[in-house]
Amino acid sequence: MRILLIEKDLESSRRIRDFLQGILDEDSQVFHSESVSSAFEMLCEMKTDAVLIDLDTPAKTDSDILLRIKEKFPFMPFVALTSFDDVEFDISDCGIEASTFLYKQKLNGKILLKSICGAIGHQQLISQLQTQRFELERSNRDLEKFSYAVSHDLREPLRSISGFIQLLSKRYRGALDANADHYIERLNSAASRMQDMITSILDYSKISTNTEPFKLVDCNEILGHALGNIEVAIGESGAKITHDPMPPIYADPHQIQRVFQNLVANSIKFSSKDKNIPVIHIGVDKKNDFYEFYVKDNGIGIDSKYFERIFIIFQRLHNDAVYPGHGVGLAICKKIVERHGGTMRIVSAPGKGSTFYFTIPVNRKEIVNVR
Ligand code: ADP
Repeated sequence: MRILLIEKDLESSRRIRDFLQGILDEDSQVFHSESVSSAFEMLCEMKTDAVLIDLDTPAKTDSDILLRIKEKFPFMPFVALTSFDDVEFDISDCGIEASTFLYKQKLNGKILLKSICGAIGHQQLISQLQTQRFELERSNRDLEKFSYAVSHDLREPLRSISGFIQLLSKRYRGALDANADHYIERLNSAASRMQDMITSILDYSKISTNTEPFKLVDCNEILGHALGNIEVAIGESGAKITHDPMPPIYADPHQIQRVFQNLVANSIKFSSKDKNIPVIHIGVDKKNDFYEFYVKDNGIGIDSKYFERIFIIFQRLHNDAVYPGHGVGLAICKKIVERHGGTMRIVSAPGKGSTFYFTIPVNRKEIVNVR
C-alpha cells in the first residue's frame, strides 16, 4: 500500500508515520508532504492508494489545488485527521469528501489502518457504481438509437405493404369472395395499427434526442398552450377545468407542455361517460427541492394493481373500441419527467377518479441522462 500523508506539523507527521510503519507490511510505503501543492505534485508523479490529510494543513489559498486534485483523482480515498479545534478551512467545499475523520489525539496504528482500508473500499464501490452508471447510460443510448433506426427503416417497407393492400382493396373488393374482402380489411387495419406503433416508437425515442435546452419557463403559459391544443376535446366533453397559479421552472417547455396535455387529455378520455362531466384540477405543491404538480380527475379510476403497468409503452387497460389510444402517452410523460430529474406516480381507485403526480426539481438547469 502507498499512502500519502499531508501534514504541516513535522512532529505530528513523524508520530503518524511511526504508527503506520509499525502496522503496515514491508512492501507498503508512507510518503509525507507538508503542503497541498507539493502533495499534488507527488500524486501526479507516483501511484498512491490513499491520502491521509490533516485538516489544519490546507488553507483557503489552496482551494484551486484541492479542486485540481479532485478533478485529476476523482476516486482517491481520503481519510481526514483533525485535532479537537475547529478546522480553518473545509476541504469538502472543493469536492473532497473524506470517508473517515480521526482525532489525532486518539490515533493508533490499528485505527489508522482500518480507516485507510475502509476509505479504499468505499471509493472502489463508488467507482464501480459510477462505471455501472456510465455503462447503463451508454447502453440506454445504444438502445434508443437502435429502436429509432429500426422503426425508421421499417416505415418504408410498411408504406409499400399498406399501399399494395389499398390497391388490392380498390381493384378486387367484391371481385373475389366474401372471405377475401374480410381478409383484406383485416390486413388493412393491422397495417395501419403497425404504422401507428412505429410512429409511437419514433416519437418515444425522440424524447431524449429532439430537445431544447432547459430554460426558465412560466408554467401558467405552458399549461395554457397545452389546454389550447385540446380545446376541441374540452369543449365537446364539457369538462370543467381549474388550476392553481403555476410556478416558473427550468424545463424544456415543449416537453412539459406535452406532459400536461397528455394527462389532461387522458382525464377527459377516461371520464365516466354515463355519469358526470369531467371535473379536472391541475395543482402544484412545493416539497423541499421539488415542485409536485398533479392532475386530478373524477373519471373511471384505476385499480392499484395496474399502477406500474400503465407507464410502460403500449400497455393499455381498455379495448380500442371503448377508449381509443395507442398506450404511449403515459410512457412519454414518465420519460420526460425523468429527464427533468423528477418522478411520476398515481393515486387512484376504480370509480373514484385518478390523480397523476409528477415532480420537477425547483432549480435543476440540466438534462438528466440516466433512464
Ligand atoms: P392511452 O391513453 O393511449 O391508452 P396512456 O399511456 O396515456 O395510453 O395510458 C395508458 C393506460 O392508463 C390507459 O389505457 C388507461 O387504461 C390508463 N389511464 C391513463 N390515464 C387515465 C385516467 N386519467 N383515468 C383512468 N385511467 C387512465
